[in-house]
Amino acid sequence: MPNEKAEEPTRTGRLLIVSNRLPFTVHRRRGQLQLDASSGGLSTGLASFYRTYDALWIGWPGIDKSDIGADREHLTQQLLAEKCHPVFLSRYDVDEYYNRFSSGTIWPLFHYFPLYATYSNTTWKAYEKVNRMFCDAVVETWQQGDTIWVHDFHLMLLPRMLRERLPDPTIGFFLHIPFPSLELFRLLPWRVQVLEGLLGADLLGFHTWDYAGHFMASVRFLLGHDSSMGRIVTGDRVARVDVFPMGIDFERFAEAARKPEVTREIKTLDRSLGERKVLLSVDRLDYTKGILRRLEAFALFLERHPEYREKLTYVLVVVPSRTMVAQYAQLKQQIDESVGAINGKYGTIHWVPISYMYRSVPFNSLVALYRRADVALVTPVRDGMNLVAKEYLASRTDNRGVLVLSETAGAAKELGEALTINVNNDEDFVLALETALTMPDAEQANRLSVMQTRLRRYNIRRWVQDYLEALQSTSRLQEEMGVRLLGVQPRKKLVKAFQQAQKRLLLLDYDGTLVPLVSRPSMAAPPADVLDVLNLLAGEPGTEVVVISGRDRDSLDGWFAKLPLSMVAEHGVWLKPRATGQWEMIEPLTNEWKEQGRPILELHADRTPGSFVEEKDFSLVWHYRGSESRLGELRARELASHLQGLTANLNFQVLEGSKVVEVKNAGINKGRAVARWLSQMEPEFVLAIGDDWTDEDMFKALPEGAWSIRVGLSGTAAKYNLGSPAKVVALLQELLTPEEQPAAPAAGRPAEK
Ligand code: UDP
Repeated sequence: MPNEKAEEPTRTGRLLIVSNRLPFTVHRRRGQLQLDASSGGLSTGLASFYRTYDALWIGWPGIDKSDIGADREHLTQQLLAEKCHPVFLSRYDVDEYYNRFSSGTIWPLFHYFPLYATYSNTTWKAYEKVNRMFCDAVVETWQQGDTIWVHDFHLMLLPRMLRERLPDPTIGFFLHIPFPSLELFRLLPWRVQVLEGLLGADLLGFHTWDYAGHFMASVRFLLGHDSSMGRIVTGDRVARVDVFPMGIDFERFAEAARKPEVTREIKTLDRSLGERKVLLSVDRLDYTKGILRRLEAFALFLERHPEYREKLTYVLVVVPSRTMVAQYAQLKQQIDESVGAINGKYGTIHWVPISYMYRSVPFNSLVALYRRADVALVTPVRDGMNLVAKEYLASRTDNRGVLVLSETAGAAKELGEALTINVNNDEDFVLALETALTMPDAEQANRLSVMQTRLRRYNIRRWVQDYLEALQSTSRLQEEMGVRLLGVQPRKKLVKAFQQAQKRLLLLDYDGTLVPLVSRPSMAAPPADVLDVLNLLAGEPGTEVVVISGRDRDSLDGWFAKLPLSMVAEHGVWLKPRATGQWEMIEPLTNEWKEQGRPILELHADRTPGSFVEEKDFSLVWHYRGSESRLGELRARELASHLQGLTANLNFQVLEGSKVVEVKNAGINKGRAVARWLSQMEPEFVLAIGDDWTDEDMFKALPEGAWSIRVGLSGTAAKYNLGSPAKVVALLQELLTPEEQPAAPAAGRPAEK
C-alpha cells in the first residue's frame, strides 16, 4: 500500500539497504540480548561505513523469533540506534526459506552444482512468504525519495513486490553470487517468477559481465524481452543491467598489517612455522570452494616434489558454515578425512604438512596469516567474486606474496596478474604451486603492485558510490522515458477531443497494438474485448475505424469482416473501405521478384529452427520470433544483405522489423494508405496507434494536431508512448465512456500513470 508520508521531494531521502542478514547478529547471553558483528563480505564491507550515510539497514537479526519473547520492542530500539530495522523470522521460516530454498536450491544451481539442488514447492512457498515479509518491512519504513538497495539471492522476488506496493520507488538489486548460464537457470521450476521478481529493479548489478550476460540471455529466452546496451525494456519501464565488481575496505587491511598486535601475531606464527614456506587458504565450509580438490592437488605436489617436504606448511582455515544443510556436514567429514590421510602419509615426527583449523579467525589473526603466507591458494570450483583473494593482496604492503587464483572465481576477471588456474587440471595446479614457490621477489612485487593499485582505487566505498550513482541515473532515465508516456492530463484531453468531434478517424495497427505479439501469427486471433470495443467505436456516428495491418486480406476478413470497419492489408497494398466493402489495390503492382526471393527466404528458414516464411499477395516475410534470438539476428542480417544485392534489378524493398525480414514492392507503406483516408474524409479528430517501424510511416503522414501513440518505449515520430496492448484497449474503452463517469480500469489493466 502506498506510504502515506509521500510528499518529501524526491532523491533526497535515505538509503534503505535490504539483505537477508543485518550487519549485527543477536545472541542471548546470560538472559540478555546482545549484538555481535555479522561476518561475510557484504556485512563487513558495508558495515564499516553505512552509518555515515543517511541509511537504514533492513534484515534478519539472526535470532529465532521465539527466542526474543518480550524483548522485541527493546531489541528493535537497540537495533534502530545502529540504524538497523529487524525482520523477525521463525525457526520454520529460516529453515525453509534460508536453509532449504536459498542454500539448497538457488545456491547449488547458481554455482553449477545442479545435482545438489532440490526442488520443492513447500520451500518455494516459504521463499515467497519471507520475501513478502521483507516487503512489508520495507513498505513500513519507506518514505518518498528513499532509495532501496536489495542484496542477493535470498531476496530475488522483492524488487517486483516493492514496485507493486510503492508509488514510483527507486530500487536497486545486486547479486553477490554467479548468475548461471541459461542451460542451468532454466532447470529452476520458478525461473519465470524469479526473473520477473528481479526485473522490478531499476538497476541490476552483477560482479562480472559473464553473469550479466547470462541474466540477459535468460530474460530474452524465458520472458522474450530483448536487451540492448544493457537495457531491458519491459512494458512501460526500462531495467538496466551493469557490472560492479565488489571491492574491499583496502586501507583497513593495509593499515592492519602495520599494527603492533598484528606484528606480534606474525612473530608468534614465525616461532611455530620457522623458516618454512607457507601456503594459505581461507574458505567458508562450502563445496563451491574446491577444498577437496585443492587437498588432492597438494598431495600430488608433495608426491612430485619430495624436496619441498618439511620445507613448507599448508595452513588450511575452514570457517564453519550452513552446518544445518546435509551436504555441508558431509563435506566437513570428507575434509577431516583427507587432511588426516595426507598428514598421515607425508608427516614426520618434526613436520605436519597441513595445519588445519576449523573455526572462524579474528581479524588481526587473519591479517597476520595473510602477511605470513608466501602463497595464497584461492581455488574455488565456482565463486561469485571471492573477497579473500582481494584481502590477501591488500594485506601485502610488504610487496611479497603470490596469489594462485581459480579462473572460475569472479575475482579472476579483475586480477589478471595472479597465477590463474583451472582447478580441475592437476598438472596446472602443481605447476602453479612450483611457479609460486620459486617466483623471484621482483616479479612478486610487480604483480602485486598492479593488482593493489586497482583494488585501492575501486574499493568498497567506490563500489557503493559507483552503484548508487548508476542507480540514480537509471532512475532519471526512467523519468525521461516516463515523460513520453501518455499521462493523465493529455489522456483526458484526448478523450475529450474525441468526444467533442463530429468526424473522427481511428487508425489502429493490429499485432503488438491491439493484441500482444506471439511467435506464430496464426495464434493472434482478437479476443472478445477487442472485437467489442472496435464494434462499438465503429458504430459511433461520424467515426471511421481503420485496422491498418501487415496481415493478408484473408486473415483480416476472417476476424473483422462482420464488423463495420475499414481495413488495410499487407502494410498498404490492399485497402477495403467500409463504404464499399471491397478490397482494392492501392496501385497496380506486379510481383515477379517473388520467384527469385522465395528460395532465399526458404533457405534461411531451413537453416534457422523456429523460423518460417509467410507468403502474402505482394510480400514475403521471414519470421524468426520463435528462434533462438542470437541466431535469428545473425541470420536476419545475412538474409537482408543477401536480398539487398538483388534490389538493383528488381522492384522490391527489404525491411528489417520486429523479429521479421519483410520483402515487398517498393514504394508501398502504411503512410500512403493513410493519406487516402485523410484526403477523402477531412476528419476533425485523428488518432493513430501502432507499435513498430511500419507504423512510423503512418505517424509521419498524419496532419498537425493528430494524436499518435506508439506502444512500448521505443523512440518514435508519434507524440506519446503507451505501455502495452492491454493499455491501448483500455484507452479505446475510455473513449466510449461519458466524461462525467470515468471508466474503471479493467481487471489486470492498471490505469496509465
Ligand atoms: N572471514 C570471516 N571469518 C573468518 C575468516 C574470513 O568472516 O574466520 C571473511 C573474510 O575476511 C572474507 C569473507 O569472510 O571477507 C569471505 O568472503 P568470500 O567472498 O571470500 O567468500 P564467501 O564466504 O562470501 O563465499
